[in-house]
Amino acid sequence: MTEPDKTINDRQVNDLIGQNNYGDAAKRLIERQKETWPAMSSGYNLLRAIKTKSIQFDGFRFDLQFNPGRYNSSSAMVDKKSINVRKCFLCRENLPKEQEGIIINNYILLANPFPIFPEHFTIASIKHKNQRIKNSFKDLLIFSKIFSKYYTVFYNGPKCGASAPDHLHFQAGSKNTMPLDNGYNFLKGKYGELISDKYNCKIYGINDGLRKIISIEGRKTKELINIFSSFYKEYSYKSDLIEPMMNIHFLYEEETGWRIQIMLRAKHRPEEFYKEGVEKILFSPAACDYGGLCITPLEKDFNRMDQGLLKKIFTELSISDLKFQTLIDNLKSII
Ligand SMILES: [Zn+2]
Repeated sequence: MTEPDKTINDRQVNDLIGQNNYGDAAKRLIERQKETWPAMSSGYNLLRAIKTKSIQFDGFRFDLQFNPGRYNSSSAMVDKKSINVRKCFLCRENLPKEQEGIIINNYILLANPFPIFPEHFTIASIKHKNQRIKNSFKDLLIFSKIFSKYYTVFYNGPKCGASAPDHLHFQAGSKNTMPLDNGYNFLKGKYGELISDKYNCKIYGINDGLRKIISIEGRKTKELINIFSSFYKEYSYKSDLIEPMMNIHFLYEEETGWRIQIMLRAKHRPEEFYKEGVEKILFSPAACDYGGLCITPLEKDFNRMDQGLLKKIFTELSISDLKFQTLIDNLKSII
């Protein structure tokens, strides 16, 4: 069976792509899909009605979103058995009939009908293949650049937040919705340690008491790829996982180049997730939560979240202080 093409047929989108204006083409895709697909417009209407609150820490902020539309995503079963029996929702033949996208290289850009961001996309591989960062890091650099006018692009590892670990995909969301997007420089100044300043790239280790972040700043794709590959080798050393656990944000600015924020993880979900009854918290952090935009699909969990609980959960899910410091020391000696 040949796969349905699913390319959106819209003159404005085609014109914008012809001008290499991917940011505005993506914007237009959302507008078109709101007109032609009721689920999309109702998803965006729901987003306008959600409750939010902010929790302030020393030098940074987490924004919480009570977003019932994300229930399925937060509770998704991603074990091998569950994945094997379900139809892959990112393969083109299984997309809802109204859903259309923009083909870019070997990917299709899709508007997300359950948004967290004012504008939210999934960038799915055309081919059904496993979620892995190793061979897709370069693609993420490209997407973050071509969408940089409006969007931050991010990656969830197969064991830490990807809802389809068997189908390679990334996400893109409106810039500066995650507090870390514009809080980064302050965070780096307060909690960061310079690891390396070579090959026109700067590498930092940032430990803000909740998250352990390795950031790489640079302008040249080749150098960024080499540095990421050294980092990957060191981070995966002695790990028997299919991929060491991480969520990654990719940001690009004309003046400064790329900024890659790698969040280092020890666990997929907090212990509260597996509790029963009122004790249970449906909170399954991924890249956006690590960016300070936390999604709780249930109101009781939204109400319960406070500084102490967030700190407890993020500390549990992130690698330990000792492991982080060892990684920093090793990176200093190899890069
Ligand atoms: Zn698939």
